[in-house]
Amino acid sequence: MHIIAIMNNLESLFKREPINKLQGLLEQQGYQVIYPNDSQDLLRLIEMNPRFCGVIFDWDMYSMELCKEINNLNEYLPLYTFANHQSTLDISLTDLQLNIHFFEYTLDTVADIVIKINQATEEYKDIIMPPLTKALMKYATEAKYTFCTPGHMGGTAFNKSPAGSIFYDFYGANTFKSDISISMPELGSLLDHSGPHKEAEEYIARTFNADRSYIVTNGTSTANKIVGMFSAPTGSTVLVDRNCHKSITHLMMMSGVVPVYLRPTRNAYGILGGIPQSEFSADVIAKKITATPGASTPNYAVITNSTYDGLFYHTQFIKETLTTKYIHFDSAWVPYTNFNPIYEGKCGMSGEAMPGRVFYETQSTHKLLAAFSQASMIHIKGEFDEESFNEAFMMHTSTSPQYAIVASAEISAAMMQGSAGKRLIQDSIDRAIRFRKEIKKLRQESNTWFFDVWQPDNIETTECWKLDPHDSWHGFKDVDDNHMYLDPIKVTILTPGMDIAGTMDATGIPASIVAKYLDNHGIVVEKTGPYSMLFLFSIGIDKPKAMQLLRALTEFKRGYDLNLTIKEFLPDLFDEDPIFYQGMRIQELAQNIHQLTAHYKLPELMFNAFDVLPTLKMTPHDAWQEELKGEVEEVPLSEMVERISANMILPYPPGVPLVMPGEMITEESRPVLDFLEMLCEIGKHYPGFETDIHGVYQHKDGSSTVKVVKQKLIK
Ligand SMILES: *Cc1c(COP(=O)(O)O)cnc(C)c1O
Repeated sequence: MHIIAIMNNLESLFKREPINKLQGLLEQQGYQVIYPNDSQDLLRLIEMNPRFCGVIFDWDMYSMELCKEINNLNEYLPLYTFANHQSTLDISLTDLQLNIHFFEYTLDTVADIVIKINQATEEYKDIIMPPLTKALMKYATEAKYTFCTPGHMGGTAFNKSPAGSIFYDFYGANTFKSDISISMPELGSLLDHSGPHKEAEEYIARTFNADRSYIVTNGTSTANKIVGMFSAPTGSTVLVDRNCHKSITHLMMMSGVVPVYLRPTRNAYGILGGIPQSEFSADVIAKKITATPGASTPNYAVITNSTYDGLFYHTQFIKETLTTKYIHFDSAWVPYTNFNPIYEGKCGMSGEAMPGRVFYETQSTHKLLAAFSQASMIHIKGEFDEESFNEAFMMHTSTSPQYAIVASAEISAAMMQGSAGKRLIQDSIDRAIRFRKEIKKLRQESNTWFFDVWQPDNIETTECWKLDPHDSWHGFKDVDDNHMYLDPIKVTILTPGMDIAGTMDATGIPASIVAKYLDNHGIVVEKTGPYSMLFLFSIGIDKPKAMQLLRALTEFKRGYDLNLTIKEFLPDLFDEDPIFYQGMRIQELAQNIHQLTAHYKLPELMFNAFDVLPTLKMTPHDAWQEELKGEVEEVPLSEMVERISANMILPYPPGVPLVMPGEMITEESRPVLDFLEMLCEIGKHYPGFETDIHGVYQHKDGSSTVKVVKQKLIK
């Protein structure tokens, strides 16, 4: 916070002298003074440099227009203007929310002006910084001497050891000075929601359009458990999006509820569609309850919004159609939705509270805003018992929370304030859309092949694009109108080999190969399907990073077209098995994996596997208890039909549970097993392409086993 721009007419001596003197004094105080060429230059500088803390200009030269434009960029930035006696002050000044100070050109007041600028800079920092972070920084600066935990005592302990001191130097002094015990009264408490912590949660609730917000320091994995533990008592029935995160499965393993699943669709690429409207209807739910042993009227529903691949629901429909008291939108992927109008009506916090209902939104702040890993939030609309809720909160929260995580959650909210915050999200959206267009353009210009993007034909309007039942690009059958929308920020790139209807081409480039190449070039793909890759355009993705991705994709094409050897093109892969990959070329590898994929009908098997549900034989909780009691055994994967799975089985991709603990694969749900066997089989052919399947143990001898509940327990 130290850059000040001066925009002034330095030709007349009576103006130049005070300005020169001012610059000298400001620099003595540690400010960096710069002279932009003109107002456009200034505006660009402000936009690119968050460390700006003021603009000094001449009222006769600039005045209102410039003020307005600066205001659009950052309404809190202090402005200073020199006006002489003749200047007429524009009355509409008061209409604008301006932080403006007036000075006169006299040499002897320059020292006072610097004092005023210092004060205004401090006030500016005070306005833009949120309460808890401010209190924490103040505490760390005052460096009190404590006899509490943590035992490193502001870092002192590390500096008593060679290894410790290297660690200390790496992280820097403030990391340790601000890592403090919960027993500092001036900071309040995360667990009691008191003092600056309470202020932080109130600040966050205002920012995210919630009635009440909680900061969670162990990720949305924990936020989901807190919400679920409070909303669904043991023995009750819960409506669960089958396309759920594994933390929801863990919730069910912990709390002994009976799940009834809402079944999403998917397309040939394995992209997860949403839950169709019919699944929310009272009739369909009633039928499922009748068919599920032990199920009764549900009180709590949990829905993933948006899906992994970036599809949002029109949430008002869900709120009005479901009758459960509690609806929980797991929005781990989309903490930014309240800061751009294109997401309106598509989130848990959209719209008004409804009497007798409670809506939750859980968000992984760290995933797509700027915060430390594990920073997460629970937002709530509606009336609920805060004391009981807090019991569930504390049940899952360490009594020694890491304040850096808490403060980073609060800072992410501070960063979203005002026009500067809105611009950050708008920039991400614009950047993602430009990237999409660039891929399309390269595809059009290429006379052979190029990558494609999963999106509507027309993306000229900046919005979440509707999945229209009349369109075919999305590949979902029978989508409901006005129900699902694609987030521009989630970019799914398609590789050659298959079309949206699932028809396999004669040749193809499986996405796993492209992902390996990108990984070699320092680009990590968020999710890789058989012929698709997902990229997230978070606010951390700047233009150079987007360009780098684009370049890597074109470089891949070049290397592929030149048919380079694996050794040249994918050295890391080559190193995994140099004998196997000796002499092999990229086109051969791609073609062979493509043919394997086609031979095993991977897309079709994947589609079928998620189209049937295994049968629920016991609740996830009961299955877990059997495992704890030792009442489980390992059997070969192929023998799991008619056995109760003890574990959750979850292949990556697509990264959602395929079999839940307590479920049985029957003859009817055999496609689930076919898919798992095929995944294990395909993985054996090419070193480095093994599929990661949580819950399936793949052994060195090539066999695969799963844990099932011992036979005697089946009634
Ligand atoms: C990542 C994720 C979570 C868990 O969030 P963490 O912050 O990593 O604990 C929960 N739900 C969904 C849908 C997720 O994608």
